[in-house]
Amino acid sequence: MARVVVIGAGVGGVAAAARLAAQGHAVTVCEASDRVGGKLGRVQRDGFAWDTGAHLLTIPQVFHELFADTGAPLDEVLDLEPLDPLMRYRFADGTWLDTHADAAALRRALLAALGPQAAADMDAFRARGARIWQAVEHAFLREAPFSRTALARQLRRAGDLPAIAPGRTVRGLGRSLFSDPRLQMWLERYATYTGSDPRTAPAALVSAPYAELAFGGWYVRGGMHRLGQAIAERAEARGATIRTGTPVQAIATQGGGVVGVDTAEGERLPADVVVANVDAWQLARDLLPRRTARPLARRLARATPSSAGLALLLGLEGRSEGLAHHNVLFCEDYDAEFDALFGPVPHPVLDPTLYVARPDDPAAAPPGHEAWFVLANAPRHVPTETWAHGADAATRRGGGIDWTAPGLAEREADRLLALLAARGVDVRDRVVTRAVHTPADLAADTGAPGGSIYGTASNSVASAFLRPPNRTHVDGLFLVGGSSHPGGGLPLVTLSAAITAAMIGPA
Ligand SMILES: Cc1cc2nc3c(=O)[nH]c(=O)nc-3n(C[C@H](O)[C@H](O)[C@H](O)COP(=O)(O)OP(=O)(O)OC[C@H]3O[C@@H](n4cnc5c(N)ncnc54)[C@H](O)[C@@H]3O)c2cc1C
Repeated sequence: MARVVVIGAGVGGVAAAARLAAQGHAVTVCEASDRVGGKLGRVQRDGFAWDTGAHLLTIPQVFHELFADTGAPLDEVLDLEPLDPLMRYRFADGTWLDTHADAAALRRALLAALGPQAAADMDAFRARGARIWQAVEHAFLREAPFSRTALARQLRRAGDLPAIAPGRTVRGLGRSLFSDPRLQMWLERYATYTGSDPRTAPAALVSAPYAELAFGGWYVRGGMHRLGQAIAERAEARGATIRTGTPVQAIATQGGGVVGVDTAEGERLPADVVVANVDAWQLARDLLPRRTARPLARRLARATPSSAGLALLLGLEGRSEGLAHHNVLFCEDYDAEFDALFGPVPHPVLDPTLYVARPDDPAAAPPGHEAWFVLANAPRHVPTETWAHGADAATRRGGGIDWTAPGLAEREADRLLALLAARGVDVRDRVVTRAVHTPADLAADTGAPGGSIYGTASNSVASAFLRPPNRTHVDGLFLVGGSSHPGGGLPLVTLSAAITAAMIGPA
């Protein structure tokens, strides 16, 4: 039995803790904040409650596997609700389109909104997507990372290499598959699910929209934050100890391997294995001795951080007509959005695509009211003093703006409300309460450098290989979570825990 310390109780951290405890190890989780779940945050105010992180759960089989592998099945623990429609889209020309996991319903929606060519293109996309998904799932998502050449060899052997269109971008593949620019835009949006730019992100990322259509989109009744809590409860039920309010200050190493962690309160927790669920940048910058961190820091210096998000939490009087649980109101010029986020001088997007989540759940709002979560892509948070002192490369890389500048967040929130109104969704006279959650808030709450949502972006074909592997170069030190292999998002961080637990093995 190994003594395992997990640093961070994000979804990846508690999933690793649950698996490792079930494998017979002595597991302690140290979490800096006073709650579990990390980016799956929850804010309560004036009788309303909002999830501040993920709103859509996809690839549910990953969570079913986690619970089945560690004890009672998921269905006995959480109430997962399938969403239909999956998403309601509004394009800049005023066309609305619903997507559905049911292929016949999706076909009908496409025929009605965009016509027969669009429906035929989607059929072709689903067939292509199935091949891409098969290749990506087996060779990448469920495996420890390979080198680029080894991965290409493996895909070629399985006959899957042409399916993932190596060398092509999401945009390139989208333009070859869809003749309607609105469906090209629909596909490109999925690059932002990894905080990336579709103009440079690898085509293999279209496995995400395929998976959403094939396996559905789900809501956790009571709030998405329940997922993090339920996994943490499972870890505890299997014998793990979770210590919230316990920031880790350093990982102690000796002879090239871990020997323990030091908490901010000066306590040394001896460990044979340390699983870091903190962002890889934070691990390299803050927790490891500088010389030990060097190989990791060098790898990360070549990667682009993922974009961040500006969230508006709205408590609204009355009930809305015409919106689904998930809604995406597209901008007119997607290139301008990505230029603002990833260009040489990042700035708030002037006319961003707006995402609105409107859960129909009594846990979210008092009767006759609604709790809305509105999200726009946003540049990362880089405090002004960082530039002045020119020091903190981890925060500065990728650029960004100072989201704590006086009045900025509220001004941007007002602008998002006006943009919603311009797209036919005016709720300004229904607002009972509101709060703004900026990239600076996400950074402060979870330690995500600059408030990057997904660790590093997939802004190049090589990006998957720049993401740190789960087994680090330090003996006994592993990485799980959105900044490590296979990437960000709830299913992927949960898979990173499964890959890591398999590497560590049973007690
Ligand atoms: C606005 C937003 C929308 C999103 N939408 C979706 C979505 O719809 N679908 C989806 O699948 N995903 C979505 N995601 C992404 C998903 O929520 C994340 O990828 C996932 O929750 C990250 O989990 P993680 O394991 O990387 O840990 P994190 O959530 O990053 O947690 C890391 C934990 O480590 C703790 N920590 C940091 N430093 C220390 C330290 N020194 N000592 C101890 N503890 C420390 C932090 O407090 C935190 O609890 C969204 C995220 C955000 C922010």
